[in-house]
Amino acid sequence: MVPATVLLQPLSDPLLTEKGVELSVLREDLLHPTIPGNKWRKLNYNLLAAREQNCETLVTFGGAFSNHIAAVAAAGQEFGFATLGYLRGEETLPLNPTLQNATACGMQLRYLSRSEYRLRHDVRFQAEILKTAPKQYLLPEGGTNLLAVKGCTEIVSEMIEPWDVLCVAAGTGGTLAGIVAGAAGKGQVIGFPALKGGNFLQEEVTELVQAYSGRRYVNWELQTSYHFGGYAKHTPELLGFIQGFHTQHGILLDPVYTGKMLFGVFDLIEKDYFARGTKIVAVHTGGQQGWKGYKERYRLEWPVL
Ligand SMILES: *Cc1c(COP(=O)(O)O)cnc(C)c1O
Repeated sequence: MVPATVLLQPLSDPLLTEKGVELSVLREDLLHPTIPGNKWRKLNYNLLAAREQNCETLVTFGGAFSNHIAAVAAAGQEFGFATLGYLRGEETLPLNPTLQNATACGMQLRYLSRSEYRLRHDVRFQAEILKTAPKQYLLPEGGTNLLAVKGCTEIVSEMIEPWDVLCVAAGTGGTLAGIVAGAAGKGQVIGFPALKGGNFLQEEVTELVQAYSGRRYVNWELQTSYHFGGYAKHTPELLGFIQGFHTQHGILLDPVYTGKMLFGVFDLIEKDYFARGTKIVAVHTGGQQGWKGYKERYRLEWPVL
């Protein structure tokens, strides 16, 4: 709907000079003013489909701090859809900053017990949900479907500058799948799972790429040891890295996805993982909206927002 402008920000750091590699950050976080980074890529074609199907309400699932919930709420407000978010667990008041913003955008929230929430991918359960009101468009948790993969292929097809390696954080793997499909066998793509036990993404991503492009690619891999204890967990080392990165490069990463990915990228560079002369691009998928809630939850003083 809105043409994207590509913003590639080269970094300078003594380590990069020493190892003879180039590292740039692709500022997908700046792509859209209210719908952050990869969530905008993932929603774009879904919003067009929802409009074509004359749907009036976007329905989705998510955790209480989820960037996806935030993005769907903002997209609904901007593009004139009602939004309905099914959340895992019980209502906690006051609402956390993510949910406050979502409701301010007009999103209606409903709460599912943990056992109900487990059914979120079940087609019969989804059919029940769609029966509750007419003209609903269902977006899966995290927003990953084939239209989302299609949107994420454009992260690659819009790149003008030459690159050798693309690095991206992974949750459901939809963004990674789009990048792999978009790269179409060219270069090397590295996914950094934000969850512990991220190897399950090997199969998920392979299937998504296969379903979207009708083929398999082997020029991608997962680096599964940068989860820092698991989803939404962190260590002082990770927070120190994110803070240092902000001071040095003026780029605010998020603690759930992009902080871990860039930590991993620097660690791999340090360990001579990349040959001299390699041009590495790290995709900043956004997620900064999560900081407010994250700071409250872990009683952190930084970042000052
Ligand atoms: C959702 C999200 C991801 C993960 O995207 P997937 O397509 O689910 O793998 C990565 N980074 C940020 C900032 C996100 O919000």
